[in-house]
Amino acid sequence: MRNVHDNILSCVGDTPIVRVNRLASALQGTLYMKLEMLNPGGSVKDRIALQMVDDAEEAGALTPGATIVEGTSGNTGAGLAMVGAVRGYRSAFVMPDKQSEEKRAALRAYGARVVVTPTAVEPEDPRSYYSVSAKLGGEPQAWFANQYHNPSNPIAHYKSTGPELWEQMDGKIDAFVAGLGTGGTISGIGKYLKEKNPDIKIIGVDPVGSLYYDYFHTGQMTEPYTYVVEGIGEDFMPTTVDWQYIDDVVRVNDKECMQMTRRVVREEGVFCGGSCGGAVAGALKWMRLHGKEDMNIVVLMPDSGSRYLSKIFNDNWMRENGFMDPDYGLGSVRDLVRGRGERELISVPPDASVNEVVGIMKLHGISNLPVVSAEGQLTGVLTETALLERALRVGGGNTQVQELVLSNYTTVDADTEISVLADLFRRARVAFVVEGHKPTAIITKIDLIDYISQVTAAMGEGGK
Ligand code: PMP
Repeated sequence: MRNVHDNILSCVGDTPIVRVNRLASALQGTLYMKLEMLNPGGSVKDRIALQMVDDAEEAGALTPGATIVEGTSGNTGAGLAMVGAVRGYRSAFVMPDKQSEEKRAALRAYGARVVVTPTAVEPEDPRSYYSVSAKLGGEPQAWFANQYHNPSNPIAHYKSTGPELWEQMDGKIDAFVAGLGTGGTISGIGKYLKEKNPDIKIIGVDPVGSLYYDYFHTGQMTEPYTYVVEGIGEDFMPTTVDWQYIDDVVRVNDKECMQMTRRVVREEGVFCGGSCGGAVAGALKWMRLHGKEDMNIVVLMPDSGSRYLSKIFNDNWMRENGFMDPDYGLGSVRDLVRGRGERELISVPPDASVNEVVGIMKLHGISNLPVVSAEGQLTGVLTETALLERALRVGGGNTQVQELVLSNYTTVDADTEISVLADLFRRARVAFVVEGHKPTAIITKIDLIDYISQVTAAMGEGGK
């Protein structure tokens, strides 16, 4: 007998790699996709589900008759429910309400219990999916898989996905690209590949609204906010991300993820989910900047399009969310900064006093000031409003400004598209252009409005 298995679990892994033919044809380098949606539970998460259960059984934490509990965006649930079905465990999952109905139905199909929680609440809120799942995990006979803090998550990829990828490519791989969710995939694969060849570049992809991009580029935790793409990005820092293996983080917005997902299906014939579109969009952005002719780049494709039929593959849903609107080619942050002419970035050190800052703001007629350490590191933003509140409360002009800094800023680089910047401004107050971890310019909403009106006016004239 050939390719006949004792049970479904030994079918996890050994997924194929397929070359991207059309989407990357104008770019230098060859892009390949590792098709993790072809795992039996439908996603990359089968690998960590199996590893987490194996390790918990071995440690005696998961015993016969127990219930597997997890707070999951769906795929880890499907993997765990599948492992539970084979090994005889019950399972219960907590899911945020933004996740698609297909994902919930898939979990119920394995006999699992599904509890739905609101998306738009803080992680500490007792209704949040983190809190509810931690509570269920504390119940007797329950084993909480805890993918965000379980070392078996990156270990699964270090032991299986990384070596597979290396062997499939005969070691001929220059860059690996993956979306960052728990960070388990990128950290485990990154560790393995770097041990084989430290020159391989490991690139994370993060959606607008998540905090990874700003954290990677400034070391600061900025304010996260909600976004639509499922499975990537985070509003807190899981311990499963290991930054030492990550060389760069690229950012994509919801619209780019959704549109690229559709293109991957139509142009490459690979039926994939939204985070795959995000990862491919991120990989193409990276290739545009760093691609070279003989480079091989592999992007990881976490799950299948079948879980998003009522969303990404539904024109009404796409239209309602503005994901079908055409892009006007507004250029990038570089164009905006160039267009307004050279300007020196005025900043203050963390130990400046409130009086000094007020003086600087008055002198230059500005209302947002970055706080930058002696090493050139951005530590936050000071705003007129924060200073006013402080003045009304205590009036102490000698307070150090570090105590008043806010984190509702975002960081961009010169290549960030204007459409992405506009998305970031839905929440962030100001954006800093960061080069090599150092801020070089500040962009406010009025700068953006000014730029867009100039560009669109020029387009109008061109069209006459
Ligand atoms: N895409 C999808 C669809 C996912 O479910 C996940 C897991 N949250 C990821 C990407 C990211 O993988 P990881 O958690 O290993 O970073």
